[in-house]
Amino acid sequence: MQFVASPLRQQFVATPLRRGGYEVATTPPKCEVKPEVTNVAPKNQKISDDSLRGSSLVAISALTTAQIATILKTGGAMQELVTTQGADESLKGKILASVFYEPSTRTNCSFQAAMMRLGGNVIAVNESSSSVAKGETLSDTVRCLETYCDVVVLRHPRSGAAAEAAAAMSKPLLNAGDGVGEHPSQALLDLYTIVDELTGGRGSVAVAAASEESLAAALKGKVVTMVGDLKNGRTVHSLAKLLGRFDVTLLFVSPMSLRMPAEVVAIAARDGSSHTEHEMLTESILKETDILYVTRVQKERFESVEEYDKVKDAFIITPDTLAMMRPDARVMHPLPRVGEIDPACDSDPRAAYFRQMANGMYVRMALLRLVLG
Ligand code: ASP
Ligand code: ASP
Repeated sequence: MQFVASPLRQQFVATPLRRGGYEVATTPPKCEVKPEVTNVAPKNQKISDDSLRGSSLVAISALTTAQIATILKTGGAMQELVTTQGADESLKGKILASVFYEPSTRTNCSFQAAMMRLGGNVIAVNESSSSVAKGETLSDTVRCLETYCDVVVLRHPRSGAAAEAAAAMSKPLLNAGDGVGEHPSQALLDLYTIVDELTGGRGSVAVAAASEESLAAALKGKVVTMVGDLKNGRTVHSLAKLLGRFDVTLLFVSPMSLRMPAEVVAIAARDGSSHTEHEMLTESILKETDILYVTRVQKERFESVEEYDKVKDAFIITPDTLAMMRPDARVMHPLPRVGEIDPACDSDPRAAYFRQMANGMYVRMALLRLVLG
C-alpha cells in the first residue's frame, strides 16, 4: 500500500516570539512513503491474525493496534509478576541470542534480564567476538545463530540491517535499533510509560487493562513534544510512527539541520494525528505539552565533531524549563543523556525517564512471551 502525503509545499513561517526566537510552522513536506521493506513480510514477519507468535519485530508500523494493546497489557502483567514474585519459568528451555554491534546498556541488559526472568537463557554476541570480524555477512551470522536459539535480538549501526537479517531467518528477530532507522521495542516501552503516566502512574494496574479503546482514550487530545536530534534519533522515528495512529498532536522541536525526516512525518500524519515543526522550545509550547520527549544529539551519526559541536547544546532542559510546564506534564528521555537534561530535574516528580527505563524490562518480557509463547 502506498501513501502519498499532502503535496503542499514546505513553509517556514518565522514568527517573533517573546524569548527572542522564532517558530517554524510547517506543513508536511512532499513525500511519498514507500511501503516499508519490513512490512513486505518474509516468512517470519507479521502474521495475519493478532497473535505475535513466531513474528519478528522490525518496524513499529508492522504491528496492529490490537497487537500493541496486547503487548502493553502483557507488559502490565509482567510488571506485576516481577513485583510480586520476581520471575517465572514460562520460557524455560528457550534461548535468546543477543547480538549487539553497537554499544547499549539498557536495551541489551533489559532484554537479557527479561529472558532470564522468564526462565530462559541468553547467548551474547558482539562484533569482536563473532565472525563478523572475519568478514562474515550479517545474514550468514543470524542464519547460524538461529540454529542454536529461538529468538535473535539485533542491534546494528546500519538502517535496514534488521529487515535484512529477519529476511534471512525463519525464527523471530527483534530489532533493538538499526542505525538511524527504528527502535521499535523502545517505542513500545515509551508508549507503556506515556499511558501509565497519563493515567495516574499506577503501573501494572493501569496498563494491565490496556485495550485498543483504552489506549485511544488515554491519548486523545494529548500533546507530545519531541525535542533534540529528530533526524538521527531512531527512538523518535519509531515513537512518532506509533503515536501517529492516535488522536495526538505531535510537536517536533529541533535545529533546522536535525529535523524529523519527511518520511517519518508523513507516516505519523497519515492516520490523522496533527503535527507542527519548530526551531525553538518556547514557553507556549512547554505550557501546552503533556509529554516532553527529550533526545540526545546522536554524536556517532555526525560526519565531523565540528558539525556535532554546532548543535549539541541546542536544547538543555533545566528546572527553569520545568517551571514553565504544567504540573501534570511529564519529561521522558530514552537515555543515555549527555547533558540535555540537567540532573537537577531528576527529583521533580514530572521527570519520568527513570521510570521509563524501568518499564523497558517489562515490555521486553512481554515481547518475548508473546513471540515465543
Ligand atoms: N538506551 C540506549 C539503548 O537503547 C542506550 C543505552 O542503553 O545505553 O540501549
Ligand atoms: N538508547 C537510544 C538508542 O539506542 C537513544 C540514544 O542512544 O540516544 O537509540
